[in-house]
Amino acid sequence: MIAKVMATQEERERTEHHIGLALRSIWVTFQKEGIHKYPAALEDPRLADVSFLGHPHRHIFHFRVSISVFHNDRNIEFIQFKRWLEGLYNSENAVLELDYKSCEMIADDLYRQINLKYPGRHVSIEVSEDGENGCSIAYMDTQAPQEIFPSPVQLGDN
Ligand SMILES: [Zn+2]
Repeated sequence: MIAKVMATQEERERTEHHIGLALRSIWVTFQKEGIHKYPAALEDPRLADVSFLGHPHRHIFHFRVSISVFHNDRNIEFIQFKRWLEGLYNSENAVLELDYKSCEMIADDLYRQINLKYPGRHVSIEVSEDGENGCSIAYMDTQAPQEIFPSPVQLGDN
């Protein structure tokens, strides 16, 4: 038999308080084909062992984008957000391009666009080459609300 654990009123209030203070975010993933190169690899003797990076080569860049949300009910809808991100790279009206950039540069470019559309959010972006090696960059907006839900109960400092 499993004994049913009953929370006290104070424990329930404390739990709700923690839920109210939680940092919430959603994340989406997508992939884009791109060709880039690292011209310095052809010249710099310290990069001699990876000199092939100096020539254009293809990757599937893997993205994972996380963004803070202010409530639990599709504040930012996953699929709409993902489609919007992918659309930034579509050839017809692309505002971003992958070519010849490092993963870190790609992430910063993407953040600039996200911050225009969704200001006041914490954003974290991972970009990798073929899911093997990549970067992870956290863009913390210090003006972003820290307390998402107003806490329904006021607890003492004890
Ligand atoms: Zn590469």
